[in-house]
Amino acid sequence: MRVLLLATTTGYQTRAFGEAAERLGVDLVFATDRCDMIEDPWGDRAMAIRFYDEAASVATIVAAAERSPVDGVLVVGDRPTVIAARVMKALGLPGHPRSAAAVARNKQATREHFKAAGLLTPAFIEGTLKDEPEHFMPVGFPMVVKPLALSGSRGVMRVDDEGGLTAALSRIKGLLASADIRAERHDAHKLLLAEQFIDGREFAVEGLMNRGSLDVLAIFDKPDPLDGPFFEETLYITPSQASYNIQADIVRTVTEAANALGLYHGPVHAECRVNSRGVFVLEVAARPIGGLCARALRFVRRAPPDPTARPGVGSPLAAGAEISFEELLLRHALGEESTEWQREPKASGVMMIPIPRRGIYRGAAGIDEARAVPDIVDVRLTAKLDQVLVPLPEGASYLGFIFARANAPADVDRALRAAHGCLTFTIDPELRVLQSTHG
Ligand code: ADP
Repeated sequence: MRVLLLATTTGYQTRAFGEAAERLGVDLVFATDRCDMIEDPWGDRAMAIRFYDEAASVATIVAAAERSPVDGVLVVGDRPTVIAARVMKALGLPGHPRSAAAVARNKQATREHFKAAGLLTPAFIEGTLKDEPEHFMPVGFPMVVKPLALSGSRGVMRVDDEGGLTAALSRIKGLLASADIRAERHDAHKLLLAEQFIDGREFAVEGLMNRGSLDVLAIFDKPDPLDGPFFEETLYITPSQASYNIQADIVRTVTEAANALGLYHGPVHAECRVNSRGVFVLEVAARPIGGLCARALRFVRRAPPDPTARPGVGSPLAAGAEISFEELLLRHALGEESTEWQREPKASGVMMIPIPRRGIYRGAAGIDEARAVPDIVDVRLTAKLDQVLVPLPEGASYLGFIFARANAPADVDRALRAAHGCLTFTIDPELRVLQSTHG
């Protein structure tokens, strides 16, 4: 069996897929967005494709699959979701349709589909980088402005008045003009969206779609208030402590939202806000939860395997054995039903360690103390020494991740905050080069 994994670059999550594939005896081939002039810089024999050139990427992958057939396709990150959808169609594998993956990547198209399906949707106005603040004013304050096609809360800002709107629009312009975003060559990076600010509690939903029907694997609480002006995600804790009715409402509404976008088969990751009016789905992405956060999810078989069922992938597991989320995704990509699996019984959570301020990262202290906090599973600092750290709204990453597991979600919450409290970071101011004048 062979699975193709599309990813921006090879990183932690691709390694986790590698380990899971080895356990299952499955061959993993990568297709990544990298310069094909450099021959195999990561030594992983990945196919080099250009995400901005959808047609050429699809042709390269399909031609390679004709030489060595693939049995499943998975995707990590937002950018390759549309290419993956086209590849699956070309190879006759069940997946999300191209149109649905494209709509899911576009915040305006997502809003339009939700509205047309009768879902609760904030009032919104789309615009270009050239539009004056007046163009967006009818949305009313407080509002949220955001680039149309970025992810990870990049460029997403709450504004409460006209002065704030002018400032936010010029920040988005600056962000979209930056080299890394221009390099994506995505037309939607000239567009933005303003929408009503929705108050309420926020949740993330991780799911797998099985030919049109959504199997919710986990609902994460985001216990920190996310009221702006920027929307840095910090804590994800599951199982949710929301009432049964609210959770049922979340599952029902996210299912309707995924159907409204036309998502069909494969991983989905949704974010929603819940207030007295109901559940507002902010987005449903055609991919699983990103990067290291996937480590917060582990799965066990729902019931002893049915001997008459279609055999799964790999060798049989011991009763009660846990598998990683990456393994579940591989199994699903190879045709196994996700409904045979459920999240482990323990509560689990991750803290995405926010970048406190802009500057040059010089290191961290207190890691051993953080690891020694009861219920902490791991502390992983991912920032590189001497790297320039850029916080939101312009930045796109975290200092690292803390993982906890405990009997109750409240203990996970406490452990994550206590471990974070043990850490101190040295961040030097950036040196500004002053031009001297001689005269
Ligand atoms: P991204 O795809 O970049 O994560 P989102 O549109 O999902 O962008 O927004 C990121 C975060 O910003 C959300 O998780 C939420 O906390 C906040 N946010 C976005 N839109 C709104 C809104 N209309 N009202 C309130 N908060 C919002």
